[in-house]
Amino acid sequence: MAELKTAAPNPFAVAQAQLDAAAELLELEPAMHALLRNPLRELHVTLPVKMDDGTTKVFQGFRVQYNDARGPTKGGIRFHPDETIDTVRALAAWMTWKCAVVDIPLGGGKGGVICNPKEMSPGELERLSRAYVRQVGRILGPEMDVPAPDVYTTPQIMAWMADEYAFLQGHNEFGVITGKPLPLGGSAGRGDATARGGMYTIREAARVLGLETRGATMAIQGFGNAGQFAATLGRELLGSIIVAVSDSKGGIYKADGLNPFEVIKHKQRTGSVVGFPGAQSISNEELLELDVDILVPAALENVITARNAGNIKARISAELANGPTTPEADEILHKNGVYVIPDFLCNAGGVTVSYFEMVQNAYQYYWDEETVHERLDAKMTAAFHAVHKKAEDLHVHNRLAAYVVAVERVAEAVRLRGWV
Ligand code: NAD
Repeated sequence: MAELKTAAPNPFAVAQAQLDAAAELLELEPAMHALLRNPLRELHVTLPVKMDDGTTKVFQGFRVQYNDARGPTKGGIRFHPDETIDTVRALAAWMTWKCAVVDIPLGGGKGGVICNPKEMSPGELERLSRAYVRQVGRILGPEMDVPAPDVYTTPQIMAWMADEYAFLQGHNEFGVITGKPLPLGGSAGRGDATARGGMYTIREAARVLGLETRGATMAIQGFGNAGQFAATLGRELLGSIIVAVSDSKGGIYKADGLNPFEVIKHKQRTGSVVGFPGAQSISNEELLELDVDILVPAALENVITARNAGNIKARISAELANGPTTPEADEILHKNGVYVIPDFLCNAGGVTVSYFEMVQNAYQYYWDEETVHERLDAKMTAAFHAVHKKAEDLHVHNRLAAYVVAVERVAEAVRLRGWV
């Protein structure tokens, strides 16, 4: 994912500005506003790791616990060469609002290590993962702070981290980390949870807009984890016709619909969706402006800007990607009647099933996939309607409404605890 490449505006300044807008609408008291603008805690760690050539390399890592008023902090760990503390702070803030908007009893956190996992052997990655937990483990725990996979970290890395944590504790504590492989306490239904949750929100948006999803056309930008499941589930759950998909090499369009499973096979064979037999080539920019019912940005941030927002013809833009729409574009889409399902609502299915994983770890009793799907549906549907109603009541666009719902919930918990 290229999330970290467009570092132009400081992501933490952006996160604070977004909070400021919600704080103004909510007329938050100054102390509450000040508290919610900054992380409660952060730990900076230095990690010496033995490399395969016998040398020792020293890495820098972070863990930010943004706000735990509603429950233990939750958020992924990224291994990335461009990681910065401000990126981690911003992502921890967004996790706080994401967990609050889907109303799961968790706060927001995030972690990161500055490293290039593509240049590291599996043994080096394992030693780095264990070194991170040896340093950060003292502030982790199922009741304290629960990491998960994120950019360039995998279920295998989660398994090493859970194992190292078990050594520190002297016993297994699977609930300390989510996104684990199934045999180590992972949850059924975690793989497609982000896209599935997004599909439930599209179904609800279509209901309130009076749009029939069966036979509706859908274009998806990005054909990775989120985009591929969006394509297969868009067809299976919503009955929609996937007319266009794209990846970093370009896009394809077929007016009477693409078979997502065949496109996945083609991408596995050739490395891209481009060149899929029977489809027309289009650019990523053209895909966004197609005359479709549902647009699903599922790749990069900042792809819908003031420059192209006026050309978006979709009725619904469902943001599986983080940050695909700039603030100026939000205003234009709202004015033009494009119904945006904002990122931290639309893609909250992943963290919701991560929360289910923690619950199952606490019970040591595991749910079948159908149960996970039903409970995910209930959470996403309730969250969607809370945001939709807030947007209608306040006459604001959905992203601001989602912020207001989330910030209100966190502020309420802070007040009840007597912090402010
Ligand atoms: P991924 O790395 O699996 O896939 C990214 C896709 O985007 C790839 O198909 C890549 O080719 C494509 N891409 C890259 N550059 C592009 C460009 N310039 N134009 C068009 N496509 C381009 O990543 P993912 O896990 O699917 O995540 C995608 C987005 O969804 C990110 O913004 C991520 O933060 C967000 N997200 C993912 C999850 C999840 O559970 N996977 C959860 C929450 C949010």
